[in-house]
Formats: sequence, C-alpha cells, structure tokens
Amino acid sequence: MRAVSVHEDAIVVTSLMWQANAIAIRAGEEAMLVDSPYFPDELELLPGVLAQAGFEPRALLATHGDFDHMLGRIAFPSLSLGVAESTMKRVRARPGEAQRELRDADAEHFVRRVRPLSLGQAQALPVPGHLGLGEHELELHLAEGHTPDGMAVWAPWLGLLCCGDYVSDVEIPLIDAGGSLAAYRATLARLAPLVERAETVVPGHGAPHAREAALALLDEDAAYLDALERGEERPALPAGRDSVVQRRIHAANLEAVG
Ligand SMILES: [Zn+2]
Repeated sequence: MRAVSVHEDAIVVTSLMWQANAIAIRAGEEAMLVDSPYFPDELELLPGVLAQAGFEPRALLATHGDFDHMLGRIAFPSLSLGVAESTMKRVRARPGEAQRELRDADAEHFVRRVRPLSLGQAQALPVPGHLGLGEHELELHLAEGHTPDGMAVWAPWLGLLCCGDYVSDVEIPLIDAGGSLAAYRATLARLAPLVERAETVVPGHGAPHAREAALALLDEDAAYLDALERGEERPALPAGRDSVVQRRIHAANLEAVG
C-alpha cells in the first residue's frame, strides 16, 4: 500500500491489488473516504495512516458497486457508506453480490479475513447532487457504463476528481454486466468538462493524473470505444495498456456489446 498526498487536503492510498485507489478528502476538520484498498492488512492500517496525516473520515463513499470499491467499512466499521441511488438499486437487485465477489477474489489470492464484509445501512445519495463536507460541497456526477451504476466525486475547491473506473492508465474501458457503450460514452462526455477544470484526476485504478494526462486518456478511451463499436477484433490499444489481460478485457467487451 502506498499513500501519496496529492493536495494538502487530499491523500490517495493505493492498494497492491489492481492499483485500487482510496481517496481521503478533507475540508477543515471533516474528512470523507472515497473507495477502498483491498488486502486485510491495508484495511487495518488505513485508519492509522490517514490519522497520522490528519484525516479522520466521518463517512465513506463508494464510486460504484464493484466489491473492490466497497470495502471501506472493513477499515471503518462504525461509519456509514454512501452510494449513488443507482448503486443502491444494484445492491438491492443483486443481494450479496459484493460479498460473493470478495469471497471469490479472496480465494483466488489466498486471502483470509477475520470479518466478513457488511455494508451496514448504506445510504443512497441522489446523483447528480451535492454532499456537504465541512464548509464545502462535493459534487456527485453520474458515471455509468462500466457498470449499470456509479458516480464520480468532484471536489471543486481542490480541483480533485475521483472518477471511479474511468480514465485509467492501467485499464482500457471495461464494459461489465449491466454497463453499456452508450452510457460509457455519455460518462466520458460528462467527465470531460470536469477534467478540464481539474488539478488532479484519481481513477479507481492506476496513477493519479494531472489534467493534461487525463485529457489524453479521455481521447484514447473515446478512440478505443469507437474501435469497440466497429467490432474490431484486434484494435490498437493505448500505449501502456496493450497487454494480454487488456486483450482479454477487449474480448469480453466485444461479447458484452455484440
Ligand atoms: Zn474497480
């Protein structure tokens, strides 16, 4: 696990699993945590790492319902988890999905946990919408297409965008069950003006980006979606994302949109 301060009021903690990012955002004395790391020791250390940097989250957010973003309550069992209404709908429609997928991932990585995942009384947040943090407000924007649910979290006073599983330098656009090409495109179009105003863009997986790098990724992802729509079997994948695993994701994407 790596902790990097991207602003005096924002710290990004990156898991060794899939370079998953958790982002703590602070306004005055108040802090919130977006998404989560994965491994039990990472989750155990997280409160201490954040506290040392002066971040004591009073609430948790998950950008979408994929299990690897929903683990915050393992680190902070007393805090409530806020999710987009669309994510709450997904949780209700597929009960136990996050727990099941976590168990499968744990089995694959030989991970043992003392506590199972409990989402507690998750709170459904209207998206688009606003969420108070100290004297500031986070903006919640729709971010669907990767999955049927999700939101991006924009902290305007920090120029910080936490966009969930979009705009990543380690993963091509992934269209999962319930996601869609059209919704993915709409999300990129919605994120673009935020990225243009951003100082830092933190994707669900991979390195935090400065604005120019994130804009370049948006272009690459749009070009990839065009190739996907044309049904290309072997499109050129962006530099740094042309790997066997990403080719496998592309094959799954072709199935999903075909
Ligand atoms: Zn993810």
